[in-house]
Amino acid sequence: LMRLYGPLTSLSNVQVDVMTALVSFDRVFEVLDLKPMVAERPDAVPVPAGPVTIEFDDVRFRYPAAEEVSLASLESVAKQDTGPSHPVLEGVSFTAAPGRLVALVGPSGAGKTTITSLVSRLYDATEGAVRLNGLDVREATLASLRDTVGVVTQDAHLFHDTIEANLRYARPEAGDEELWEALRAAQIADLVESLPDGLDTVVGDRGHRLSGGEKQRLALARLLLKAPRVVVLDEATAHLDSESEAAVQRALKTALAGRTSLVIAHRLATIREADEILVVQDGHVAERGGHEELLARGGLYAELHRTQFSSGGSPAS
Ligand code: ADP
Ligand code: MG
Repeated sequence: LMRLYGPLTSLSNVQVDVMTALVSFDRVFEVLDLKPMVAERPDAVPVPAGPVTIEFDDVRFRYPAAEEVSLASLESVAKQDTGPSHPVLEGVSFTAAPGRLVALVGPSGAGKTTITSLVSRLYDATEGAVRLNGLDVREATLASLRDTVGVVTQDAHLFHDTIEANLRYARPEAGDEELWEALRAAQIADLVESLPDGLDTVVGDRGHRLSGGEKQRLALARLLLKAPRVVVLDEATAHLDSESEAAVQRALKTALAGRTSLVIAHRLATIREADEILVVQDGHVAERGGHEELLARGGLYAELHRTQFSSGGSPAS
């Protein structure tokens, strides 16, 4: 079983990276020769206009067992019986009102990334529903979901192409001034200006080497260009030095302003600014509330606060 589980997991991760890159699905699936795990209904409609309310209604989820996975390359694996996977989410309910920031915190493996992946419909809930402005995401067109939800993770994926091309994937019709505006807001304009080839610098795996923080700021610039109504962010600080941490922190503030945001938060600064903190443990929301309220409770949040949250970027705590 482990031998089968390994490749399946890594293939799923490829897809996660791809989805978080804020690029055209079509191009990505073309490149990777993958099919999306979810299908559009013939009667699908766009996500309703206006600022977005995100609603999780008693969501239960288990990752699809191998025989249900629709990746063509797994067909030989799919014939084997790997048995059902264990439930990962066991009744998650919450509402993020328009323009609000909801922070997800909790131990590793608790289900935070899984929760965020259901918003962009990387997977479908096994039971319960995820709704955007009242519309079940399973009834939304994939194109409108892609336009509505912008995702950035710490493993920002850049194509082996110029900085300009990487930015324009987000919005092909953007003018040069808009590109620079986004780069400035993401605190990465100075760096791009200092490169001999500027916007024409080729980045990505075989191009100009960017640090983790630089890549994340470019991904944030792409997000700002795209200007999605919903932002999903895994702000993990793993490979940020303290200098780029402060810059990313400023960029984040701009990127999240006025949008409905779901942030897997590791920095105390983000957590304290959240309108609501959800403490996720073993696939459910164990505690919820504001920072002070949760600290005073002396439960899991208080413990995480002592042991896990970095105070980087936070002027006072
Ligand atoms: P967190 O983000 O809180 O660390 P995750 O949502 O990544 O937690 O993981 C929750 C659980 O789901 C873990 O037990 C993890 O092993 C499992 N899991 C995550 N991704 C997959 C996948 N693609 N296939 C099967 N199981 C997965
Ligand atoms: Mg995670």
